[in-house]
Amino acid sequence: MKIYYDLHIHSCLSPCGDMDMTPNNLVNMAALNGLQMIALTDHNSCKNCPAAAQAAREAGLIFVPGMELCTSEEAHVVCLFPSLEQAMAFDAYVEQHIPPIANRPEIFGQQQILNAQDEPIGEVEQLLISATTISVDKIVALVRKYGGAAFPAHIDKASYSVVASLGVFPDWAGFSAVEIYSRKPDFKLESLGISPEKYPVLHNSDAHYLENIAEAEAALELPLPTAEALIAFLNGAKFL
Ligand SMILES: [Zn+2]
Ligand SMILES: [Zn+2]
Repeated sequence: MKIYYDLHIHSCLSPCGDMDMTPNNLVNMAALNGLQMIALTDHNSCKNCPAAAQAAREAGLIFVPGMELCTSEEAHVVCLFPSLEQAMAFDAYVEQHIPPIANRPEIFGQQQILNAQDEPIGEVEQLLISATTISVDKIVALVRKYGGAAFPAHIDKASYSVVASLGVFPDWAGFSAVEIYSRKPDFKLESLGISPEKYPVLHNSDAHYLENIAEAEAALELPLPTAEALIAFLNGAKFL
């Protein structure tokens, strides 16, 4: 079945995410746009996923909990999980692998944790946009250990992409899909030295503002409308 998706969205927990990006607002905007499956992927944290999962359930959207992890090489990798429990276990691991630098909200922005009614219930003190101590070489195996799947974010961007940070696309890292930010129809994976037969391409919004959440344009063919089916696909399962 064809599923319209946006698998890279930030909330107000990301210091650079707009304060209007509350769990309910972002879920309702995605639903208005006709999306069927969304992932919440704040920088180095899953702590707004419980609230977004509840909002998504009420709106009838398939919710995939996740985060956009910044590797030790300063490459962004989207990590997604089939369940909240697995995502929060991974979140606890990552929290131990972020440098102990305090956020300065007046410079970087607030890092708000909200409940399912969009009420503030806390703030993350550690700066979430720092590079973790987790390397690109380790990330795929680590995320799989928690039951999830990882793909490199916005590989065509000039900063914080695996290609920008490493100088080449890491074929050795074990990724099974890649994310492209550009909407240019003539963009070719080959221009980054990537074989298009090997890597299915995901088009996500990387939205930090409500108006940037994707319209129902990019779709995936999945056997079931579930986060589990998405994770299996991202880990290279072939559905025939
Ligand atoms: Zn990014
Ligand atoms: Zn992002």
